[in-house]
Amino acid sequence: MSARLLLATRNAGKLAELRRLLESAVPGVEVLGLGDVEEYPEAPETGATFAENALLKAREAVRYTGLPAVADDSGLSVDALNGMPGILSARWSGRHGDDDANTALLLGQLADVPEDRRGAAFVCAAALVTPEGVERVLEREWRGRVIGEKRGTNGFGYDPVFVPEGLEVTSAQLSPGEKDARSHRGQAFAALVPVIAEVLGGPAAGQRSAQ
Ligand code: IMP
Repeated sequence: MSARLLLATRNAGKLAELRRLLESAVPGVEVLGLGDVEEYPEAPETGATFAENALLKAREAVRYTGLPAVADDSGLSVDALNGMPGILSARWSGRHGDDDANTALLLGQLADVPEDRRGAAFVCAAALVTPEGVERVLEREWRGRVIGEKRGTNGFGYDPVFVPEGLEVTSAQLSPGEKDARSHRGQAFAALVPVIAEVLGGPAAGQRSAQ
């Protein structure tokens, strides 16, 4: 089977991860990133949940490119903050993508929260939308706790302060492979792979590849 699939991201790590996962499950599928298609205006993430945001991004990608598209949305949900920063994780400090400021603000907010109430989860929703109108979305989480100071330099975002359940190191102290094998995004992408195989493997895949 040969089909093209757009992953609506500019993140090279996410692209490599999805390509690796899809390689054996859907042989012949070509995974493109936003850098491989004509640029289109990306709308702000206005959904109220991770799943809504992932679907919004995937629908938008289909509308502009005509390709079946996958999109993800993720963040850190902290128990003591009633699930926040949640969908606001990337801009928690008020500056989008400022990892240091976001992490510093979170540590300040949790400063007096005792060890046994520092539970949290990284959450990822992954959505598949096709030009034929198929829509699938699923969510996976990676539980752990937020520690009081940064440890490790791998990863991004809140990784230096997140100790996954069952480990004594932060996710910023894991190698990329070790993180992918456990993470919310790794789990969500892995769970979406059979869905992609089923949807793109259907009769519509042949029509698309013939165009
Ligand atoms: P996005 O869904 O890739 O845009 O991520 C949203 C935000 O959630 C990021 O800017 C990070 O602050 C946080 N986040 C999501 N996934 C991770 C992760 O694996 N490690 C650390 N932070 C993450």
